[in-house]
Amino acid sequence: MLYYSLNKQAPNVDFKEATIRGLAPDKGLYFPDHIPLLPEDFIKDIVSYSKEEVALQVIQPYVGDTIPAKELDEIISDTINFDFPLVKVDENKYSLELYHGPTLAFKDVGARFMSRCLGFFAKEKKEKVVVLVATSGDTGGAVANGFYDVDGVEVVILYPSGKVSSVQEKQLTTLGKNIHALEVEGNFDDCQQLVKQAFGDNELNEIVVLTSANSINVARWLPQQFYYFFAYRQWKEITPPVISVPSGNFGNICAGILAHISGLPVKHFIAGCNANDVIPSYLQAGIFEAKQAVSTLSNAMDVGNPSNFIRILEIFNNELGDLKNILTSYSISDEETISTIKQVYDQQDYLLDPHGAVAYCALQKYLEQHRGEKGIFLETAHPVKFPACVEQALNKTIDIPESIAHIMHLEKRATVMAPDYNFLKDYLLKM
Ligand SMILES: *Cc1c(COP(=O)(O)O)cnc(C)c1O
Repeated sequence: MLYYSLNKQAPNVDFKEATIRGLAPDKGLYFPDHIPLLPEDFIKDIVSYSKEEVALQVIQPYVGDTIPAKELDEIISDTINFDFPLVKVDENKYSLELYHGPTLAFKDVGARFMSRCLGFFAKEKKEKVVVLVATSGDTGGAVANGFYDVDGVEVVILYPSGKVSSVQEKQLTTLGKNIHALEVEGNFDDCQQLVKQAFGDNELNEIVVLTSANSINVARWLPQQFYYFFAYRQWKEITPPVISVPSGNFGNICAGILAHISGLPVKHFIAGCNANDVIPSYLQAGIFEAKQAVSTLSNAMDVGNPSNFIRILEIFNNELGDLKNILTSYSISDEETISTIKQVYDQQDYLLDPHGAVAYCALQKYLEQHRGEKGIFLETAHPVKFPACVEQALNKTIDIPESIAHIMHLEKRATVMAPDYNFLKDYLLKM
């Protein structure tokens, strides 16, 4: 498998090169030169495969021969060594709980897979690699945790000051060692802009081997397909599911659509967005207009210019009509998010986090128009990571699980910076 740049001005590369580079030299996102078709029998008999076997079958064609079979097996079993339960919430909706990983966020899978691949490649290369990542919330913790203490890899995380929850902030500022947090006085788009600028800076890139751990990196983006196969493995209904994905940068849902093109039965995809409604507006009016991100309760999705959407367009050769046949998107307000959390808790005794609530609410809207269909929404974070929001909805506090309680007492260590590129460049040069 080779990867080409969506800007079409850079050479094709294999999985190893694409993972190390993150972004192509022409600043385009890498995209696979074909989408593999999975054997029909594999899909039909999916329940008879272990989740490791499923994951291997899905990711092997994308990795090609850049990682030997034995190492890839180990990377996979290490990456997914927790549960991905599908839980029935009400008559026509199931929750795919993706928050049972070490940082209680779905991004654990992508971050763990990528860190282990990069660790393998860095060993071969014998050169220090600096992972540079902007986070709107959960990426930081998952990346910090996934890369912690990996030899030969330094991690620099930019996050918007005051715009991530206290648990999230602790997760990315308390580890130390090879994990460095930069607290940017700005919003997520500022952070993302700084990171993009660093990757585009030839002078810097000649001195430092920089790579990204955002979902633009193929090694983070592609393993997200696993979720959709794991969901289908547990799906007992007769007709294929409608799948609703809480979306910000659109990496996760793009992976889902890729899985579907590879043969996974899915009736329809729903992208649940918060007030950052670039894609819902685009699908309605046909005009793509990037905006400033606005702050919402589902802050990991506060993205004004979703960087992975261009990959979704590529899958459909930019045919908006074809895309609309498979994808519908809704913008859900904070008020709806709160009332959804409350309603689902009161009526079904199921606690949603604000991101899962957006996906649930979007799925609900779709199913109201499509009676008889059933769906899955992705629960991408544990509700305890957003205590203020959940307390606002339910008027009660929730307990922090043992597994993360201890970090709340650790000391935050971060370097505060204005959204100024020169500061970042200096910092990276001095590492
Ligand atoms: C990152 C994130 C999302 C959005 O995923 P994208 O791939 O950026 O669309 C949704 N929910 C949570 C909890 C997240 O951390």
